[in-house]
Amino acid sequence: MADGLESESRKLLGRLRDTMAEDAAGQARLDKITHLTADSMGTEVCSIYLFRDEETLELCATEGLKKEAVHQTRMRLGEGLVGRVARTGKVVNTADAPSARGFRYMPETGEEIYSSFLGVPIQRLGEKLGVLVVQTKVKREFTSDEVYALEVVAMVLAEMTELGAFVGEGAALTARHTQPAMLRGGTGQEGTAEGHIWLHEPRVVVTNLVADDPVRELERLGAAIERLRVGVDEMLAGASADAEQLEVLEAYRMFANSKGWRRRMEEDIARGLSAEAAVEKEQSQARARMAQVSDNYLRERLHDLDDLSNRLLRILTGQGSETGATLPADPILVARNIGPGELLDYGRQLRGIILEEGSVGSHAAIVARALAIPLVINVARITTEALNGDHVIVDGDQGVVHLRPDDTIVSAFRDKIAMQAQAQERYASIRGKPAITTCGKRVELHMNAGLLADLPSLTNSGAEGVGLFRTELQFLVRNKMPRRTELVAVYKRVLAAAGERPVVFRTLDIGSDKVLPYMKPTDEPNPALGWRAIRVGLDRPGVMRMQLQALLRATEGRPLTLMFPFVAQYDEFRAARAEVDKAVAIERKLGHVVPEKITVGTMLETPSLAYASKKFFEDVEFISIGGNDLKQFFFAADRENERVRRRYDTLNVSFLTFLEEIVKRCESTGTPLSFCGEDAGRPIEAVCLAAIGLRRLSMRPASIGPVKSLLMRTNLDALYQVICDARERGDQSVREHVMEFMRWQG
Ligand code: PEP
Ligand code: MG
Repeated sequence: MADGLESESRKLLGRLRDTMAEDAAGQARLDKITHLTADSMGTEVCSIYLFRDEETLELCATEGLKKEAVHQTRMRLGEGLVGRVARTGKVVNTADAPSARGFRYMPETGEEIYSSFLGVPIQRLGEKLGVLVVQTKVKREFTSDEVYALEVVAMVLAEMTELGAFVGEGAALTARHTQPAMLRGGTGQEGTAEGHIWLHEPRVVVTNLVADDPVRELERLGAAIERLRVGVDEMLAGASADAEQLEVLEAYRMFANSKGWRRRMEEDIARGLSAEAAVEKEQSQARARMAQVSDNYLRERLHDLDDLSNRLLRILTGQGSETGATLPADPILVARNIGPGELLDYGRQLRGIILEEGSVGSHAAIVARALAIPLVINVARITTEALNGDHVIVDGDQGVVHLRPDDTIVSAFRDKIAMQAQAQERYASIRGKPAITTCGKRVELHMNAGLLADLPSLTNSGAEGVGLFRTELQFLVRNKMPRRTELVAVYKRVLAAAGERPVVFRTLDIGSDKVLPYMKPTDEPNPALGWRAIRVGLDRPGVMRMQLQALLRATEGRPLTLMFPFVAQYDEFRAARAEVDKAVAIERKLGHVVPEKITVGTMLETPSLAYASKKFFEDVEFISIGGNDLKQFFFAADRENERVRRRYDTLNVSFLTFLEEIVKRCESTGTPLSFCGEDAGRPIEAVCLAAIGLRRLSMRPASIGPVKSLLMRTNLDALYQVICDARERGDQSVREHVMEFMRWQG
């Protein structure tokens, strides 16, 4: 790059910095910036357009266009060339604007006399703030140096906006992060909570944007990159064999040594940016790219680059993750993503969790569920929009976040939260009572668990036992394979907490959505239909054997109940049970006591098992319907796919009829049957399951109160009649009439 251009750029940035330092109103600053930029770039026009809401841009300052148009000219996102820059986040550079695609003429601005147009996005860390434009009468394309120079100005503008330099009158100039915002995401864990934001990774604030001495800044950058490299090498040296962690660290090392990354930052510094501003400019551009790539691998690598930039910024600014802020009394955690271990460290003190990414089956969601903390996932922009200490309401039921809510929202939610609290009191009052319906039928209510964090719920919820202990969660929340002794200790604690109450341990159910971070990933086209659960256990029995031994030892001679996941045919059950027999024989040989009784059952999660031979039903000691999987296979609708996962109703006549058939088969052979999918914890679904004959339901602990309360008010015989009538009539789902019956019943 030519020295002349560099010194021009430095001069301009220096003048921008002085403008910032002046004690002036936001509007005056914007006016001055357009003037300085046009002057420095030798263009007749320079204009700044800022967002006044998510969809609309407003001309906020201009040099060259008609002043009357300021705060009057507005355009929708995507409208005209300015709207195009804003929507795509990409530069538009054209010699002949009127003939460019999407051009829209704004007569009030007097722009018809300008031919060439250069627009660059004003964005900060992927957040779109506006568009910066220069125009000239002469028909010419702008050079790459000019594009670059304008991008640097846009970057400084973005930072100044974040620092509140342009606050003034009107929607486009309101201070950032002060307005109420409703952000939509997805439900990770139901429940509602009010509290204050706690950022898991506080943002680094760059106040020193412009630097006079590029040599010193280059030295600072060089030294910081060196420290970063050493740090990454140390991390690599100390890393475990965890494949995923290694992959991330290798990517870090690649970026830390990337010449292109460094060169771009050095060029920014030569233009007059400080070292930290140069890092942030690169980071912003990486974030903007991240929003556009759909390939998962590439996105992950861009995330790695983002993390690395944060590390570099912390080195340069001296801002650690220790910001001096104290955890609020009612913390709502905000993070891009969080590992299960870190979430467990925060524990029950959190009132709610909001993640920018995440998925229903993610490990964080599993932990949030165990801790019964409302969680909203996939909330775009939350890590840039929320500030530490902001007031927030998390609506886990709807998957919505109300950031800095206004009074009407707050009072509506306080009513809802109060009602939920009242309901909790009601549930507490029936905690010790059995669930007996008004027609005298007794339904056993057990809880699903998988983490030690679940254990206090055994007492709090009034569960009669653990109907499903998902042993894989202990494997998922670790970053390496747990050792047998560790598992023995965990299982002992579970059994001790349960006391006399029964516990059903399900052997490892991995694969599909439950991928162990330390196991070689299998590349399967349809993981839900792939190599998972008992299929893995039987093909590679090593881990299952180790787990069975741990379970046998943990009982210290007392009875043990085991259940296999995802058995699709009788043979698989026989083979799995043979593994138990083998493990018992080995334990005996080693001189360990073995359980006085071992009860072995299976999950029923594929329709095939419902039609297994009668001999199977006689042979198996109990069956538990895994409704989550069974339903996805029954309707061929992926439980992890937001597009289809709610498409088919559990109360669909076909599914209920199918479940009832399973109940009848089990009744005919006297096989104990339970239901342990999520539907067991939904009160309406639960009473319908009871109505078709299920007498044992296992669910999230928090659901036991609501389910019991409804069961105790329900006449199952009458409800069964409602279901039969709906079936008879040819209804698609029995839900409508069941709801009507419930209302009538009171
Ligand atoms: C189920 O499929 O219903 C079940 C309980 O198993 P998981 O949700 O753990 O797959
Ligand atoms: Mg399952």
